[in-house]
Amino acid sequence: MDTVLKNITLIDGTGRAPIENAVIAVREGKIMYAGSASGWPGAAGEKVISLDLRGKFILPGLIDCHVHLSGSGEADSQFQVPTGQMALKILKNAQRNLAAGITTVRDLGGWSELEFDVRRAIQRGEFAGPRMCLAGRFISITEAGADYYIGMYRVADGVDEVRKAVREQVKHGADLIKMGVTGAVLVESGVPGTTHFNEDEVCALVEEANKFGKRVAAHAHGIDGVRKAVQAGIHTLEHGTYLFQDPQVIQHMAQHGIFLVPTLKVGWDIILAKDSNIPDWIMDKNKATQGEAALSLKMAYEAGVPIAMGSDVGTPLNYHGENALEVYWMEQAGMAKMDALVSATGNAARALGWEHWLGTLEEGKVADLIVHDRNPLDDLRVLADKTSLQFVMKDGLIAACHADHDFPADLFAKQMLTI
Ligand SMILES: [Zn+2]
Repeated sequence: MDTVLKNITLIDGTGRAPIENAVIAVREGKIMYAGSASGWPGAAGEKVISLDLRGKFILPGLIDCHVHLSGSGEADSQFQVPTGQMALKILKNAQRNLAAGITTVRDLGGWSELEFDVRRAIQRGEFAGPRMCLAGRFISITEAGADYYIGMYRVADGVDEVRKAVREQVKHGADLIKMGVTGAVLVESGVPGTTHFNEDEVCALVEEANKFGKRVAAHAHGIDGVRKAVQAGIHTLEHGTYLFQDPQVIQHMAQHGIFLVPTLKVGWDIILAKDSNIPDWIMDKNKATQGEAALSLKMAYEAGVPIAMGSDVGTPLNYHGENALEVYWMEQAGMAKMDALVSATGNAARALGWEHWLGTLEEGKVADLIVHDRNPLDDLRVLADKTSLQFVMKDGLIAACHADHDFPADLFAKQMLTI
């Protein structure tokens, strides 16, 4: 079966200018053609389903490089529920992403390995859900966060334990390794500027991960920890709040292609919240760091550091399905609209190391795509607007759409979600 989407404006996720009157052709879950109608040779398959999408906009399915499927935006950041419930919570949150057009999520701190079970169930086709790039547990030194996020942390002190912690994540099926190099904002006694792991531990973790072909995502706010992580050869820097303090570190990231994943949305959700029961310590710490985080993104972006979108959804008032507002906040911090959009598509796939088959609407890539009524390049908040989002395609089949659709039945995935 070939599926042909016609008369549509194509925003392909590479950063190229939009193409009006475009055609996207899909066969067996892959893109056969994406470009102007004039260059389209026509469908040759035995069975062709053609959709006229006049006036609409087509983009790659969005990729969120920093989520916590185990959290649902609890105001006090307490994620914990009994084990069976947690598995269902992870599944529900995963589905909220897919129904919002986030076709791929990178989870940077799951819960008791349950996210691996959820992923297997989705891959077997038992449930609808996004692609999942999983880090397993957040590897950390002995600190209070490990008691607060009891199923998320893997405490490791010293080089030998760090190596063992990496091996455990690999054993469970992790695609990458997440480490906490500095203190956290969302741990009451956490001091974001403080370095946690020592240089030998950071280097050992990166070396051990690389040995298994796994990338490393480093949670780091303070500049000393950021420096240690970047010099050890991590692939993505999560948060990077105090990066602005050392332009040399920014230069090093630009030269080595180390991604910054700034996670601005959570801070804004907390600061702008009205009548919420956010604890004072969470509010105060976010107010103290938000301007610095935005400045660090601006400086990194202007210096040519690659940027990938990560919303940190799951954290207080930061709900699954609203992820794409992160793209808007990145623009507000100084990125061009198209660059902010690429950070959630082509560049996000690059940050995962999956760019050969994912992230842009180009020939040969998997057909993960979203169709919007309105142009996101007019206002990036459109990306998170479910009245604008018409349908979500994953692997070439419609995985989510509105209840009042009139699409042919052959276009639907086995498991469907309602937008
Ligand atoms: Zn996080």
